[in-house]
Amino acid sequence: MSYGDLLKKLLMAPAYAHAAAIAVRERFDHANRKRLGDPANRAKCCDPLPGEFPLKKRVVDIPELVNKIEHVGTINTGLTRWFACRTCGQEWREDQESVGNFAEYPHVRKAT
Ligand SMILES: [Zn+2]
Repeated sequence: MSYGDLLKKLLMAPAYAHAAAIAVRERFDHANRKRLGDPANRAKCCDPLPGEFPLKKRVVDIPELVNKIEHVGTINTGLTRWFACRTCGQEWREDQESVGNFAEYPHVRKAT
């Protein structure tokens, strides 16, 4: 290993440790996230909605979802926001999708 590689590893160590700590906390929060609604309502509620919405639309830009779902958690060190439907409990995720080298766009889809 060159001196430069070693230096880089040493300098980045706190950042890696920080990201790992966040990931552990998020996994715990995610496992204990709020469960909403009753799946018995799903056939008339979220089932008819598409499995995913067009790229670049955030939850707040989607009229069919914005008033029925609630933010219940975050994973992927903040890049993925989880939501659940208050009526039927369907979970939705808003990811940041990489497009090309630099662009990232929101992408909303059913979580399960
Ligand atoms: Zn629903």
